[in-house]
Amino acid sequence: MPLSDDLEKLQFARSSRRSCLVKTILESLDSADKLALENALNNLNFSGAQISRILKENNIVIGSSTVNKHRKKDCCCHVAQ
Ligand SMILES: [Zn+2]
Repeated sequence: MPLSDDLEKLQFARSSRRSCLVKTILESLDSADKLALENALNNLNFSGAQISRILKENNIVIGSSTVNKHRKKDCCCHVAQ
């Protein structure tokens, strides 16, 4: 894995310690990208692995399990509320 990916991951990990990484990423995107990602998350034709891969191609590192956790509402976005 390239160093830049690791550093990116570290950056997100730090800011997302108390919140879901999906939420952190959504908040970091501009409105058009945010909407596109939200649509993808709600579209069950896309697997978590596919979304993870697309995000990684855009220098956003998130594992498919984290994506799936958010989709199943098994993350702090939903638990905390
Ligand atoms: Zn979440």
